[in-house]
Amino acid sequence: MDAFSLQLEFDRRLQHLYSQSEIRFLYQQISGHFTRESEIRNALLRLEQSEPYQYIIGESTFYGKDFVVTPSVLIPRPETEELVELALQRIALEKDFKEHLTIVDIGTGSGVIPIILKIHQPHAVVWGIDVSPEAIEIAKSNAQRHLQKIEFVCMDYLRSSFPVQNVDVLISNPPYISEEELQNIERNVLGFEPYNALFAPGPDPLVFYRKLAKDAQSHLRSGGLVLVEINQKLGNETLDLFNKVCTRTELIQDLSGNDRFVVGIK
Ligand code: SAM
Ligand code: GLN
Repeated sequence: MDAFSLQLEFDRRLQHLYSQSEIRFLYQQISGHFTRESEIRNALLRLEQSEPYQYIIGESTFYGKDFVVTPSVLIPRPETEELVELALQRIALEKDFKEHLTIVDIGTGSGVIPIILKIHQPHAVVWGIDVSPEAIEIAKSNAQRHLQKIEFVCMDYLRSSFPVQNVDVLISNPPYISEEELQNIERNVLGFEPYNALFAPGPDPLVFYRKLAKDAQSHLRSGGLVLVEINQKLGNETLDLFNKVCTRTELIQDLSGNDRFVVGIK
């Protein structure tokens, strides 16, 4: 079958799921990645099941770079690119920040946050922590791919003491969706992405932020920065947690206008 007919088949079979421009984009991604017709057809079958195209091609772009993703890791989101951008801006603004920063990312997933930060702060010692051994393996392969040395640690953050002292930058995009919000989550997210990357365990959706605020108190150096991505419905509650440990805090909106980040200076 020629490429044009295959593209028409994409249009016909995906039009109930995606807009015309999305289908064109998906066709470009798939046909750019696979060459054999059988592979492209198999990808089309997976798209019909609402599987995110990033898992089908095994890659996702983040902050202008390509990263390996598998169904063991969350597909990095555009909001998290904004979090990284904020981190880089704030690091540049802090006059007392030396070159040899210690940066810790909690819930590192595919490793996108520490890898991009390390690329821009080459003298920093950057840590990435995750409970999932599969995620840590993916994160390590991404670090290798981008030739960055990151200290990855596989541990349950909620049940462990903080592994690094005198941290300059504490950053995290932890699981923050509450179980009550489950019915609002789209099928292509819920059916394919790791549950424990999205949902906070148990009844308290702020459980990670309480621990992050506590660890900021004990392990972030005075003048250090904390930056977290947050649940848009819990902006003020999350801010309050960091108000207790920081001298200055801000609640910041994402490009869609939702409360999405808390930034604090200790
Ligand atoms: N940082 C990545 C990103 O922004 O794309 C992934 C963020 S994802 C929302 C949250 C991550 O936290 C997942 O990779 C998940 O495995 C990890 N996680 C969940 N529970 C954890 C725990 N108890 N300790 C450490 N990491 C945990
Ligand atoms: N923003 C992601 C979503 O809505 C959730 C990320 C997270 O829980 N940290 O799918």
